[in-house]
Amino acid sequence: MILDHKEQEQLTQILATLKNEIIIQACLGNDENSHYVKIFLDELAKRSSKISIEAAILPRTPAFCLSRKGQKARITFAGLPFGREFPSFLRALQEVDSIEPLSKGRMAKRLKEIEVPLHFETYVSLTCKNCSVIVQELNELALLHSKISHMMIESKAFVQERFEKNIFSVPTVLLNGEVISSGRKSGEEILDIALGRFSIEAFQSKGTFDLLIVGGGPAGCSAAIFAARKKLSVGLLAETMGGKLQDIASIENMIGYPFIKGTQLMDEIDIHIGQYAIDQMKNQRVIQLIKEDQLIKVRLANGAILKAKAVVLAVGASWNKLNIAGEAELFNRGVAHCSHCDGPLFENKKVAVIGSKNQAVQGAIELANYAKHVFVLTHSDNVKADKILVEHLLSLKNVTVITRANVREICGREHVEGLVYKQGILNKTEFLSLDGVFVQIGFAPDTKWLINSRINLNHKGEICVDERGMTNIEGIFAAGDCTNLPYKQIVLAMAAGCTAALSAHSYLLHQ
Ligand SMILES: Cc1cc2nc3c(=O)[nH]c(=O)nc-3n(C[C@H](O)[C@H](O)[C@H](O)COP(=O)(O)OP(=O)(O)OC[C@H]3O[C@@H](n4cnc5c(N)ncnc54)[C@H](O)[C@@H]3O)c2cc1C
Repeated sequence: MILDHKEQEQLTQILATLKNEIIIQACLGNDENSHYVKIFLDELAKRSSKISIEAAILPRTPAFCLSRKGQKARITFAGLPFGREFPSFLRALQEVDSIEPLSKGRMAKRLKEIEVPLHFETYVSLTCKNCSVIVQELNELALLHSKISHMMIESKAFVQERFEKNIFSVPTVLLNGEVISSGRKSGEEILDIALGRFSIEAFQSKGTFDLLIVGGGPAGCSAAIFAARKKLSVGLLAETMGGKLQDIASIENMIGYPFIKGTQLMDEIDIHIGQYAIDQMKNQRVIQLIKEDQLIKVRLANGAILKAKAVVLAVGASWNKLNIAGEAELFNRGVAHCSHCDGPLFENKKVAVIGSKNQAVQGAIELANYAKHVFVLTHSDNVKADKILVEHLLSLKNVTVITRANVREICGREHVEGLVYKQGILNKTEFLSLDGVFVQIGFAPDTKWLINSRINLNHKGEICVDERGMTNIEGIFAAGDCTNLPYKQIVLAMAAGCTAALSAHSYLLHQ
């Protein structure tokens, strides 16, 4: 058995609670992966008389699906659901047994809109924290609606297939065979995409908000709660709820929580926000602000326009880009940012990390666990990270540091095949053959879309605010990482969200 002691205990506990007969239909071959899946399934059957294994033909080998006896299976695991997916498997087992999602169907009321079959497939890596969230939520949806089915696909067990489909990032979700989402998203957001919800028509009846908040990270969520407590009518627009919290493996400076995962903190915030009448419009990108008389019009990427008396911008910051040929074209096809999520997809491959500060060096060290070789390219003379990290990096046998490297192009047709860089000393153009490129050169505020808005931005693109979180335009406030305030931290983003919301309230009182 390949499970550790704690996992074995968890499995024993769950198996002991099963009330119904669970049928596992398995499609196995003679390959090594099938061998391990077989060991795992045999062990389950051995440990519980409620579990029966049947041979079946499924779209992938190895794969197995779970159902209660006499019912159609709608949850499938292709490959072994171990690591971060082991809780997904346990949860699926419990839910199939009880036919009741553990979250009590937060998304249940939305399912009435489903008329056609929706088959979701999620490519995961077993170390990706964002993947298991999607897997668990899509599994729940599959249990809630007979037209929905879901298959988790363990990326390392289906390397060839992934290459053919150009999937180089997890979690990647397909709906009826088409990629609909890459990167972190909640099940609810995936459902929004699948249902095409939030069409322009859905916005037409919304009227004028007192306050619209753009951004669903710590700053935006804090602003929303403070504004709702002042009884303002509040709308919260977010491309990705949680913002960067979704990317943080551990937070140790959130006062009151000596340790908390970013996703856990987001879950807590989600519950908190849910206690107020805040109109949450997730998975929406704002592309323009227009101030007309006393109203601010907010234009969304889908074409809809919302109106508000005041706006808080809490759009945060995103990974910096190199802005070189091939970077955008090959994004998620070998070009990536998150070594923690996407690293395992590059097992035994050659990858490059571009950057030399702490984040990049930590990323390179992590990647060295999986990759055959890691090249760290920096345009400076040396690696700029903390000494302890640099020493660790340089001690790794499968790491090469290339200094004074000016990366010119990321090359590849269907996926990354290499990069071209110019070496400072020799001024010579070199080609490095690679399978992946991790761009880790810091963050920039997500404010490019505001350049023509008349809102003052500084030379870094940060929104200039005063001590009340006010921009130079009346009624428009800003908070968090997207502003010119120093130090980019969660507690500061939350505090700034509070300031902006209270200032907006005060502004509205004087209107
Ligand atoms: C790897 C990593 C580790 C970190 N660790 C810590 C830590 O341990 N402790 C700590 O205090 N801080 C940490 N930080 C920093 C912390 O995450 C940020 O300071 C904080 O998330 C900022 O919050 P925010 O709300 O301003 O922005 P974000 O969290 O970036 O949220 C921005 C929000 O705006 C949305 N958005 C952006 N543009 C648009 C648009 N045009 N339309 C609609 N929505 C939009 C995004 O989807 C998102 O919802 C870490 C950051 C990273 C990347």
